[in-house]
Amino acid sequence: MHEYSIVQALLEQVDHHARAQGASRVRRLHVRIGELSGVEVPLLSLAYATFREPTLCADAELLVKPVPARWRCPGCDRAMRRGNVLRCPDCARPARLAEGDEIVLDRIELEVDRCVTPAAAEIPRSCRWRSIRTSWLGTIGARGTTARTFASTA
Ligand SMILES: [Zn+2]
Repeated sequence: MHEYSIVQALLEQVDHHARAQGASRVRRLHVRIGELSGVEVPLLSLAYATFREPTLCADAELLVKPVPARWRCPGCDRAMRRGNVLRCPDCARPARLAEGDEIVLDRIELEVDRCVTPAAAEIPRSCRWRSIRTSWLGTIGARGTTARTFASTA
């Protein structure tokens, strides 16, 4: 059920940004899912297939990039991998999760009927297909708290 609410939040965000760009439909979505995010990718894909129908994403492919968990020392920035003791061998501080709990909408590929750019004088034909980077959208779901607990107690 967690995946269903994430997909609904995702579709709302994509719809908002696609309309702001004057898109008539969405071609492809790129998302990054951390291995400690608590999201099951097969369930996410199933939820997406269920909810995308009435939206601009009706024909859009969902591409999921899994992100492995990585920890770093908050003191000296030393990287620590999964399976290691999550305490810095140099300064003994508990490691902090650097990545692997994210649920991020990375990029949206849109089909646009007209170009919504400041330089409207010359509109290249290539702007019919547009790919926008959306990393500034940030996280689409709540970041996992289990991951941080795991990192500090392990
Ligand atoms: Zn350290």
